[in-house]
Amino acid sequence: MMELIDKINDLKKRRNAVILAHFYQLPEIQDIADFVGDSLELSRKAKDTTADVIVFCGVYFMAENAKILSPDKTVLLPHLYAGCPMADMITPEDVASLRAQHPAAAVVCYVNSSAAVKAASDICCTSSNAVKVVSSLPEKEIIFIPDKNLGHYVSRFVKDKRFILFDGWCHVHNDITVEDVEKARRDHPHALLLVHPECIPEVVDRADFTGSTSQIIDYAVKSDSGEFVIGTESGILYRLTQLCPRKRFFKLSGLLVCPNMKKTSLQSVFNSLEKMENRIEIDEKVMKGAAESLNRMLSL
Ligand code: SF4
Repeated sequence: MMELIDKINDLKKRRNAVILAHFYQLPEIQDIADFVGDSLELSRKAKDTTADVIVFCGVYFMAENAKILSPDKTVLLPHLYAGCPMADMITPEDVASLRAQHPAAAVVCYVNSSAAVKAASDICCTSSNAVKVVSSLPEKEIIFIPDKNLGHYVSRFVKDKRFILFDGWCHVHNDITVEDVEKARRDHPHALLLVHPECIPEVVDRADFTGSTSQIIDYAVKSDSGEFVIGTESGILYRLTQLCPRKRFFKLSGLLVCPNMKKTSLQSVFNSLEKMENRIEIDEKVMKGAAESLNRMLSL
């Protein structure tokens, strides 16, 4: 494994590449990354990097985000079939149909969506800034796509708008049940429960804290508590135990694995860098529309 890591580091230098990885990636991928973060942080890094090549260790829509924000750079996705089932639930045609039904509404698009869907939307948001983004809009009606649970969560904070929620979800978070919460409370009575807003409202209702992956990490680091039950993809536990070696972290359910996030391997990172393969290419018109939605968010 060390030999492969050395080869990756050597190639990285030669190609002037940067490796970005999401918190849900495997530990060995997080270890070789130049930066590990959530969607918003990774979007910002992609925009600001001076590297010529971005190796994006995440899923397809994230690599697309990097390409949209850094169109002159080469963006590689080590495993080309690392997709996101939630992003695939909605098409630009669905967005057009929702707009026709609600012509006065603004379309707010969670970044977990394809470039084409972003291009069909008015503005993007992440789970960190969704409330801020929606609150900033003058429209009184909001079409929130594609995650109904995040949309529902935002609607709790933005009372003066009417929400039309698309029926999409992330299977990793949506599958967490109230029974999982009750069991975790019994098994770990002293732990705080931290969950992601992609969870169903009934789970969010029972949590001590709800936030994006970065916000969950931040909360756990600053908290006086020594035990936490974590309700998001299990890859985050690696980061949490690195940052807080004296604290204890437990998964909220036995599942909590996104198979697509685990497709990236050291070998696939090496292969993509060596052969410069799995480049992200986006249609020019789509790229322009998606950039407008993303940049509108980033400018807030
Ligand atoms: S964790 Fe959920 S939202 Fe994230 S990539 Fe996997 S399926 Fe998509």
